[in-house]
Amino acid sequence: ERRDVAVKEHGINPKLVDERAMDVVLTLKHAGFEAFIVGGAVRDLLVGLKPKDFDVATNATPEQVKSLFRRAFIIGRRFRIVHVIYGRGREHEVIEVSTFRAYLDNSLAEQVGGNERTSKSQLAGMKHAVDASGRVLRDNVWGPMQEDAARRDFTINAMYYDPQTQVVVDYHHGLRDSQKKIIRMIGNPAVRYREDPVRIIRAVRFSAKLAALGFTFEDKTVAPLVEMKTLLADVPQSRLFDEMLKLLQTGHAVASIAQLKFLGLSTGIYPLLDVVVDAADEQFLKLALQDTDRRVGEGKPVAPSFLLSCVLWTDVREGWARRKKRGEHTMPALQDAIDEAFNAKIGDVSGRGKLGTDMREIWSMQPRFEKRTGSTPYSMLEQPRFRAGFDFLRLRAQTGEIEMELAEWWEKFSTAYDDERHEMIEAMR
Ligand code: ATP
Ligand code: MG
Repeated sequence: ERRDVAVKEHGINPKLVDERAMDVVLTLKHAGFEAFIVGGAVRDLLVGLKPKDFDVATNATPEQVKSLFRRAFIIGRRFRIVHVIYGRGREHEVIEVSTFRAYLDNSLAEQVGGNERTSKSQLAGMKHAVDASGRVLRDNVWGPMQEDAARRDFTINAMYYDPQTQVVVDYHHGLRDSQKKIIRMIGNPAVRYREDPVRIIRAVRFSAKLAALGFTFEDKTVAPLVEMKTLLADVPQSRLFDEMLKLLQTGHAVASIAQLKFLGLSTGIYPLLDVVVDAADEQFLKLALQDTDRRVGEGKPVAPSFLLSCVLWTDVREGWARRKKRGEHTMPALQDAIDEAFNAKIGDVSGRGKLGTDMREIWSMQPRFEKRTGSTPYSMLEQPRFRAGFDFLRLRAQTGEIEMELAEWWEKFSTAYDDERHEMIEAMR
């Protein structure tokens, strides 16, 4: 049942609410709709963390939302949501606005929607939503707010906050759970994991993120995790890949890996994640993961290509060394080693093309950093991925794979003035 909680009980500091999210909510309300900040942002506000992004939920349809804002775009074909854009260029911010959805089968439909492999059991459970081939017949099924809450995953992720009245609307004791620091699945956990196995990975992610604040799982929520893991085989690879990146790139990579091990989920979630967990204690990857967490914490961007090139580096480096020993030339040996590692460890994932290109670039720069004569160093600086390549070089130096002097030289060279650069190259002759 619905409970409206006033500020003196939940204590959310309204100053932490993003101005743009506030604007979206007020605009919708002035037009006569219901609108709330929802999901992870409410959870983070309640525990005193600064939300990294704000989602808004409303009873307005996407078309109605779009019509109220100057720059708003309806995105997604099956699950249409609206992106309201504020600001321009690098500084722009997106507020995601979704219409309240009926409980039914949305998460299932989302998986099947990609017309990728779907298990019989999944299809059987959703006859009302798909045809025999798995095509989604009913999508964007709008529903009352109460059902929108019930379709969400954890109780702490299912609260609605009105920044104007400062009321939190809570249907599933999310407030109690956030105060008791408990991660609890709404409804029957086993059923909910079966509905959408990606929730298994989400459980790991949230528990890792909130562990530092003292959160633990409710028993019934954690108990089915290991047993349910096999269901992930039915989830489209591209979705698993995205979830893996969220695990590794949202500032809690080290904690997430510890949590995977602790929960008995070290293997079998996604092939590449197996590789990461397995290698997480090796110094190179350990430093890379710590570095990634630090960067995210400082609000700096992180690229999947960088972390993944660190993950596969041991394989690439060994293959490279083996080939050079056999007498192959440096560059072709490296290219062959890259092909081998890539084919062995990176599955068929979305964005593989671009991702692969970026990773190759980072690796291919490595031997070229050793050439510090003529015009080579200048052309290195011109490389669009110079920064990533250099960060990678520095990690290699930190782990003792190459001389620290080389990394320091490049650090200096990249920030020096022209005459100083000239001298640095002269000194190498
Ligand atoms: P983060 O802070 O990492 O973004 P979040 O809770 O905002 O965490 P999102 O993936 O952004 O997570 O999703 C927003 C909200 O949508 C969640 O809080 C949850 O209520 C709901 N949600 C997202 N994915 C699922 C899912 N697979 N099953 C059920 N509810 C989900
Ligand atoms: Mg979010």
